[in-house]
Order: sequence, then structure tokens, then C-alpha cells
Amino acid sequence: MPTEPTTRRRVAFIFPIYNEEANIDVLHRTVGEVTAPLAGRYEFSFLYVDDGSRDGSLARLTELAERDARVTVIEFSRNFGHQLAVTAGLDLVDADAVIVMDSDLQDPPAVALELLEKWEEGYDVVYAQRRSRQDSPFKRYTATAFYWFLQKMAAVEIPKNTGDFRLVDRKVVDELRKYRERDRFLRGLVSYVGFKQTAVLFDRDKRYAGVTGYPLTKMLRFAADGILGFSVTPLRMITRMGYLISLLSFVGVLYVVGVKLFAPETAVPGWAFITIAMFFLGGIQIIMLGVLGSYVGRTYSQVQNRPLYTVASVRTGVPESAEDSR
Ligand code: UDP
Ligand code: MG
Repeated sequence: MPTEPTTRRRVAFIFPIYNEEANIDVLHRTVGEVTAPLAGRYEFSFLYVDDGSRDGSLARLTELAERDARVTVIEFSRNFGHQLAVTAGLDLVDADAVIVMDSDLQDPPAVALELLEKWEEGYDVVYAQRRSRQDSPFKRYTATAFYWFLQKMAAVEIPKNTGDFRLVDRKVVDELRKYRERDRFLRGLVSYVGFKQTAVLFDRDKRYAGVTGYPLTKMLRFAADGILGFSVTPLRMITRMGYLISLLSFVGVLYVVGVKLFAPETAVPGWAFITIAMFFLGGIQIIMLGVLGSYVGRTYSQVQNRPLYTVASVRTGVPESAEDSR
């Protein structure tokens, strides 16, 4: 049973922002409206991470911070990517629970309240799981295929149809901060750390304004991060493929010897077979080199041990005159 807290528990929202100029105001307004009725129970704050936007996003955010004391704006020195923007938010936030949301209103702010309810029931991670989504059919199909593949491969159970829209308790945030891997798949990490986790179903909306910051190339890299970061199955597949091809070639040897011994008048097909086999093996070897290379590349960038991101500035909200503060 949830008890009335004597002091308000602190809940922080983290919004990664990349070229969201046209969404920021309506996002902040909507989240403000949705959370207003709970202001007696929770102390809300809003952490915006500007991931090197090239439009007027930063100016908009600065205006917000000047109007609303609960706003903090972190400015990156350049675009580091969505996962690192959220990571910076998690590193710098100070609250009892954190809600990570996209900034294009695809994640409906009202669902945040449902996440809070589950948190009150004692869950440490409440992820919002998509019941439906309105993205393009292409995005939907590729996402379905990706999650299917990931479940087959990954060593941890990564819930299907979840993005980074979720609530995480402070103790999970503390744990996540210890993970400093570079090519991040945060939703996988959250599953990996464990604790009491549950889902809330929701219908994912369309992007309110602007265009996606995840074109196909970024999506493919992100998918690779999900698989490579949580599985060494591709490496094992190299060995298996090796056994399979050796077995095939052994069958080929038996065939050739058989023909020589028992039917010397039949000619064993010559150059066509050799050429095809050569290209086939060449192709497989190059693919397998690529698989190895993906792991080696990740190891290399990890060994370089560079900082994950660079913060250019932090603006904290300016407390303003009492009458227009909420
Ligand atoms: N985003 C970011 N850095 C990037 C790309 C995206 O911080 O390099 C943010 C973006 O502003 C949004 C969230 O990540 O809040 C999800 O991105 P987007 O909506 O473009 O992806 P989609 O929903 O199309 O997968
Ligand atoms: Mg989006």
C-alpha cells in the first residue's frame, strides 16, 4: 500500500533533444500540465540534454530555463547521439526516480503517471511497452524483425517493443552509472542490471513535429550495438560455419574418390564448380572477418577509454517571481 510521503519524493524527467525546436514548448507545456495535479506528492524537475542540435532548440531550452526554475539544460559540445544524451542525463540527474522520454511527443506524457503508479507499488524499473505504433510500415517491420533476432541472440531477456521510455528508481540509476561502455544499448543495460521490473502498455503516437533523428544508417548501427553488446553468438556462429563447410567438403572428397574408383568414365565437373566454391568460401570468409572486426572495433574504441561525451554548458532554471511560478 502506498503511504503518503511526508516529504515529496523527487522525480526527474530526462529529455534528449536533437533538432526538436518545434516540439520543445508543447512538450514542456504538456508535461507540466500532466504532472501539475501531482505536485503535492512529488517534486518534479526537467532535465533537457541538447545533443548538438543544429536548429533553435538550445535557444528554446534556454528560454525555458529562464521561465521555469525546475528546468536544467545540459548542452553537449556536439552531436553524440541519443543514447549518450540519455546517459549524460542519468549521470547528472539527482532524484529518487527518473523518467526517460523522447522529446517529440511520441511517448505520451500522460503515460508517465502510470509509470509513477507502478513505482509506488514497489517496482524499480517500469518500462513503457508499445501496444501499437504509428511509424511507417518499414520502421515497424524492421523493428519487429530486429527484436525477434535480438531475443534469439542476446544473453539477457530484453523486452520486446520497448524504447527508452521508462521510469528507473534511483538505485538502478546508481547502478547504470557504473556501466561505461561506449557503444550503448541502454534498454539492454537496464534489463541487464535486474531489480524489480514491470511493463505498462501504451499506444505510441506520431512524431508531433520535425523529422526523425534516426535515419536507417543510425538505426542499423544501433541494432548492431544491441546485438554485439549483449551476445557473442555471432562469434560462435563462425566456428559452426567452419564445421559445416568442412563437413561439406568432406562429402565432396568422398564423392570425387567414389567416382574415381567406381565410375572412372564419369568426368567430375571441373572449373565451374571450383569457381563457385571459391567465391562462396571467399564470401563467407569476408563476412566472418566482418563479424570479428565488429567485435575488435568495439574493443578498440573501449580501450581508447575516451570520455563518452563532452558537456559544453549547464544552465539551471532561474527561480522567478512567485506569482508565475507553478
Ligand atoms: N535524439 C538525440 N540525438 C540524436 C538523435 C535523436 O538526442 O542524435 C533524440 C530526439 O530528439 C528524440 C529521441 O532522441 O527525443 C528519439 O529520436 P527520434 O524521435 O528522432 O527517433 P525515432 O522516434 O524516429 O526512432
Ligand atoms: Mg521519435
